[in-house]
Amino acid sequence: QENVPEKIDYVFKVVVIGDSAVGKTQMLSRFTKNEFCFDSKSTIGVEFQTRTVTIKNKVIKAQIWDTAGQERYRAVTSAYYRGALGAMLVYDITKRQSFDHVARWVEELRAHADNSIVIILIGNKADLVDLRAVPTEDAVEFAEDQGLFFAETSALTGDNVEKAFFKLLEEIYGVIC
Ligand code: GDP
Repeated sequence: QENVPEKIDYVFKVVVIGDSAVGKTQMLSRFTKNEFCFDSKSTIGVEFQTRTVTIKNKVIKAQIWDTAGQERYRAVTSAYYRGALGAMLVYDITKRQSFDHVARWVEELRAHADNSIVIILIGNKADLVDLRAVPTEDAVEFAEDQGLFFAETSALTGDNVEKAFFKLLEEIYGVIC
């Protein structure tokens, strides 16, 4: 059904950010293609993928941007954030450092993105239960403190990915429509 051409009511630009290797690209391919690729090779240069969904009877094309590795060189530019209505800020629940850097990513968003941008904090790789280094409560507290939505996901199993993206898109819808 999602492939049937139809009238698009809105296009929502969403950016995916966070440290390298937290699973940003896999989150995106899970949501847009329901795929997980074990040997994904990211190309340099910003790219986006789309998925069209229906929210409150409106057809919304989610245009989801991937940094495509630019974050490694701290080279994510203002152009990347321009026009973004939502941000998915991803860390890896098994890598404490990726969570410690989340505050820096929030600052980056506040500096470059629109003030009304909706942000969801994502603790990814939730399938790796035995390797957990970031307690859920720490993230919940940070998210509440900063006014971010929050979810833990696994791009590998697909757990919660759909729900997290829909939460973000619904909140954007609430802000702009
Ligand atoms: P990016 O650099 O943030 O875009 O990260 P990638 O999407 O390229 O993923 C980095 C690595 O983590 C890859 O080896 C993925 O296979 C792996 N990965 C991504 N998401 C998950 C997940 O939910 N669970 C597990 N176990 N591994 C994941």
